[in-house]
Amino acid sequence: MILIKCPYCGERDQSEFANGGEAHVIRPKNPESLSDKDWGEYVFYRNNPKGIFYERWVHSHGCKKWFNAIRNTSTDQILKVYKVSEKRPDLSEFKNTLKSPSGEPPVGSGNFSVKK
Ligand SMILES: [Zn+2]
Repeated sequence: MILIKCPYCGERDQSEFANGGEAHVIRPKNPESLSDKDWGEYVFYRNNPKGIFYERWVHSHGCKKWFNAIRNTSTDQILKVYKVSEKRPDLSEFKNTLKSPSGEPPVGSGNFSVKK
C-alpha cells in the first residue's frame, strides 16, 4: 500500500488518487503558429525517466484538487507534494534519495554486482 499526502487533505491511500502525467509542461503561446509535428509533440510526447520526476496528481476520490508531486519512478517513493500554485522545488535537495530500498545505485539498478 502506498500512501500519498494530499496537500489539502493529508495522507490517504493511493487508490484515492489518479496520476495526471508529467508536471510543468508549458502550453505554447501561439499554437496556431506551430507545425502539425510540433503541436503533436506538445500534445502527445512526455518524458518518462527512471528516477526523480515531476508529476501531476489529482485526489479524484477526495477533494478532487490537482497538485504536483516529485516521485522516484524506480522506487515509487513520493519525495514531496506541493500545490500547483507553489514554486517548483529544486531537485538538488533530493539527490541523496536516489538509492533504491535495497541500496542499489540509481544507474544500472538491476545490474548491481557484488565484489567476490
Ligand atoms: Zn485532497
